[in-house]
Amino acid sequence: MRSRIGIGFDAHAFTEGRPLVLGGVTIEHPLGLAGHSDADVLSHAVADSLLGAAGLEDIGHYFPDTDPAYRDISSLRILERVRELITAAGCRIGNVDAVLVLEAPRIAPHRHRMRAAVAAALAMPEADVSLRATTTEMMGFAGRGEGIAAMAVSLLESDS
Ligand code: MG
Repeated sequence: MRSRIGIGFDAHAFTEGRPLVLGGVTIEHPLGLAGHSDADVLSHAVADSLLGAAGLEDIGHYFPDTDPAYRDISSLRILERVRELITAAGCRIGNVDAVLVLEAPRIAPHRHRMRAAVAAALAMPEADVSLRATTTEMMGFAGRGEGIAAMAVSLLESDS
């Protein structure tokens, strides 16, 4: 058995008139994130870390933002599809760890629901999905409240 790790990063800008969806959970906030899908920056970073660990192409390759099929879709569907792709590549998910980088809103009240939603989409135990959030002490785009960034690391196990 071989262990493979992958890293994922994503960032989306705040915009008016869209719901804020993070880790598949819709959060009450005056602004949402701009993007072709539901712009779930956390799910996108997790998806890319899984694809990277499996040695596959990036998220934009499988879910192009020019494809009308992915307009406004829940990114939990993207995670489900990514799990199928990495399973087909002969990999099993060990664990996923992710960090949201944002000034607001507060993530703590929603953290458990996000973990549960991401874990369910990936068909893995909630205990193997970690999620934390941090601010950047008002520095940079996240600190100025212009958007949200997310980073994720995934560990896969493969037979080859
Ligand atoms: Mg994205």
